[in-house]
Amino acid sequence: MKVLDTFAGVRAAAGPRSVLVPTMGYLHDGHLALIAAGRDAGEPVVMSLFVNPLQFDEPSDLDRYPRDFDRDAGLAEATGVDILFAPSVEEMYPEAPLARVHVARITDTMEGVHRPGHFDGVATVVTKLLAGLRPAVAVFGRKDAQQLAVVRRVVVDLSLPVEITAVPTVREPDGLALSSRNVLLDAAARPRAVELSRALFAASDAAALGEKDASVLESSVRRTLEEAEIEVDYVSLVDAAMAEPIDVLDREAFLALAATVGGVRLIDNVFLWPDGAADRGTTLDGPSMIERS
Ligand code: AMP
Repeated sequence: MKVLDTFAGVRAAAGPRSVLVPTMGYLHDGHLALIAAGRDAGEPVVMSLFVNPLQFDEPSDLDRYPRDFDRDAGLAEATGVDILFAPSVEEMYPEAPLARVHVARITDTMEGVHRPGHFDGVATVVTKLLAGLRPAVAVFGRKDAQQLAVVRRVVVDLSLPVEITAVPTVREPDGLALSSRNVLLDAAARPRAVELSRALFAASDAAALGEKDASVLESSVRRTLEEAEIEVDYVSLVDAAMAEPIDVLDREAFLALAATVGGVRLIDNVFLWPDGAADRGTTLDGPSMIERS
């Protein structure tokens, strides 16, 4: 595996058919699933590792974001990454950026409301990665479903010549969606965090049995979280492409939530279709790497 820190260096090493897996590091099995999907999509696989200051609305969140370059490099190499792109902030932002990418409407709900400026930071850095590295394919997780919708729209609206591949959410054996932030959960919060997926799965069971009313699906999730005394930011059934609320499950949608458990803000979702189909993600057989390492 080559470790490179410039756009030009990656372009020269990767050629025109590369597959990009953008990450902020502190890798877990969810990232590894993206890398595996990347390998299926082509080669070389380029993984970017950059904690993007532009997408953090809270400076304290940026400060406490977990980082471990050596561990990430070892895991990336072991999983089949060919090129690790780890740019400095100066390589990514030689000047404080005056041009930023803003996606209207899709960013007006949920994370866009609770984290002002977050999606402009995401859309800008993803656009820079796609423009600067020119991959043929880029891989994103459904865990960040609204982000996925934003990225898909950037690619269409700005005519970026890249194919976007989406990977189902990878979960701990008890259902908790893997996240780099999970390491911040303390021993009391970790078992409570399972309520997020438990609530979403119960709603997805109801949808599979024919429940299509958004308010019924959302209320059932809220009730479960309130009973567990978990602080909820939002629970919303939204159109999968636009991330806008819908009243009835009459198209591809996702039921998304954000909640704070033990001081750690977590997001999760399940994708739902009107015919009762769902994508709840995939579950690890054993403990995740974070607990193993
Ligand atoms: P991050 O490092 O958190 O910015 O995430 C990098 C990529 O990994 C994004 O496309 C995320 O959607 C994806 N991702 C994060 N957690 C998971 C997960 N549990 N399952 C699948 N993909 C994930």
